[in-house]
Amino acid sequence: MSNIGSYEERLKGFDWDMAKEILGWEEGELLNIGHICSDRVCARGQADKAALIWEGFGGKKRTYTFDDLRVYSNGFAKFLLDRGLKPGDRICIFMDKIPSLYFSFLGVLKMGGIAQPLFSAFGDESLEVRLESAGTAAILTTRKHVKKVRKILEKLPELKHVIVVAGDESKLKGEEVFFNVEAAPRVEEFDAYEATPETPSVLHYTSGTTGQPKGAQHVHNSIWGQVLTTSWVLDLREDDIYWCTADPGWVTGTSYGIIGPWSLGVTQCVLDSGFTCVRWYEFIQDNRITVWYSAPTAIRSLMRDGVEPVKAHDLSSLRHLASVGEPLNAEAVIWSEDVYGLPFLDTFWQTETGAMMISNYPDMPIKPGSMGKPFPGIEAAVLDLKTHEPIQEPGRVGLIAFRPGWPAMFRAYRNKPDIYRSKFAGAPEDATPDELRTNPDLWYVSGDRASIDADGYYWFVGRDDDVINTGGHLVGPFEIESALVEHEAIAEAAAIGKPDEVNMEVVKVFVSLKPGFEPSGDLELSIMNFIRKKLSPLAMPQEIEYMEKLPKTRSGKILRRYLRALEWGEDVGDLTTLEDD
Ligand code: ATP
Ligand code: MG
Repeated sequence: MSNIGSYEERLKGFDWDMAKEILGWEEGELLNIGHICSDRVCARGQADKAALIWEGFGGKKRTYTFDDLRVYSNGFAKFLLDRGLKPGDRICIFMDKIPSLYFSFLGVLKMGGIAQPLFSAFGDESLEVRLESAGTAAILTTRKHVKKVRKILEKLPELKHVIVVAGDESKLKGEEVFFNVEAAPRVEEFDAYEATPETPSVLHYTSGTTGQPKGAQHVHNSIWGQVLTTSWVLDLREDDIYWCTADPGWVTGTSYGIIGPWSLGVTQCVLDSGFTCVRWYEFIQDNRITVWYSAPTAIRSLMRDGVEPVKAHDLSSLRHLASVGEPLNAEAVIWSEDVYGLPFLDTFWQTETGAMMISNYPDMPIKPGSMGKPFPGIEAAVLDLKTHEPIQEPGRVGLIAFRPGWPAMFRAYRNKPDIYRSKFAGAPEDATPDELRTNPDLWYVSGDRASIDADGYYWFVGRDDDVINTGGHLVGPFEIESALVEHEAIAEAAAIGKPDEVNMEVVKVFVSLKPGFEPSGDLELSIMNFIRKKLSPLAMPQEIEYMEKLPKTRSGKILRRYLRALEWGEDVGDLTTLEDD
């Protein structure tokens, strides 16, 4: 039986303290995420268990135990304090997925700092925007990436420490300091910072899919949400070998790529090399991975490469798959069940929510294309677009919203109190962030739309900004895109509204084709008819544009706002998050 067992039973008498029971946590124990993910696991007899199985480019491979995690995170914590950094300082972690990323993340938390992980492929401009916004005091990076920091250092007066943690020590400049934790003396003892539940922990910037990225501030109390969802949704157990493909520059890579699995003492694998389908399958095969948490964009790429590479590998160790980041097309769920013998379970959440909010569960029947049901303990609804009252009729589309107050909820948008307030429907003008977060009469409005069916399953429609208004009818892009990827020629698709004099908007789609297919008049007709028959004449694209690759954010999300702006002749806005390789 799965950890969650019966979803229905879990709804009854739910209490977030069940997370504490899972960890055997007693009141009065030290609440510090860095400590719980390393020291505490060792103290419970798992010091010699593998925590991190790491592979880099060229097949480089290392394994680290929980004791290594403990000692190396101590090393970072002590080093940072010795440099004069203090609890509450924002400390940016800007590196590839090398082991020191993981050690330093825990180390920053252990010394009471606020970890600000940023995706290493960001260029200097993307980096500057986020360091400026955070008032970052120190950046931990590598020789490979320090060049980008050098370019912007003068413009960031608050950034006092540039610490290079890997690469060639001899080529540093100015005030840069070198610190290789594995070569430094071992720090066996370190008293982790006595955090309270409300002590800030991680500052995560959103993906920037809809506009300027926002800095969502999280706190140490988030761990209870992460522990319980990791246990009940990802179903992690003692003997699992777990792989979360997300980069810790995004919230999935920390909530479920560090905090969830390691607080539970689970072994996890990290692959720090580029994506190819064969490389991924080899990684699963070689490490006997059992639980795999990934994203629709990767799954669609695997689908594009077809079933042959699957057959060429032994993937029999897999027992549970889940997905997050974008809507998961029904086609992808059915395909994975066909080829891996396991469906990907969709999970819906955001940087702001810190943990899964709506999800499919191991023992609950799946409806492919649905996001599933609210996590026990989360009160969710879809709200009427105008009145903000919860919609009662099944199938009617509204705004996905949650009652505030769950443990992993963000506590602020850095420097943007008004935007934070605007996320709460019915918020009084003068409410403080704490009042907003704890007011049980408010709704936190996610910015996404969905409907709920008669069985209580949620169906994603699109982001508020992406919904297409054609002839007075609202059409969700997800439905069109999901239908498009069922067409034999199409690998990926994005649907947007294009200005139209008669209908206000009409549907325009951008598609990339599977290997072996070429654009042609016949194909165009076939795609249009396919959608007309499957959905409706309203949803039928009036225009199809072929693209080699769709524009995406660095975290792999299709950037519809970019396509839309080009179509409407508008300013494309902040593009610091656009993937450009
Ligand atoms: P920004 O807020 O800067 O525009 P973003 O919303 O893409 O960027 P994230 O917090 O990384 O930043 O992503 C959360 C969003 O991703 C959700 O609000 C939703 O639009 C989308 N999303 C995540 N998981 C799912 C899912 N399972 N189904 C549908 N959409 C999802
Ligand atoms: Mg968002």
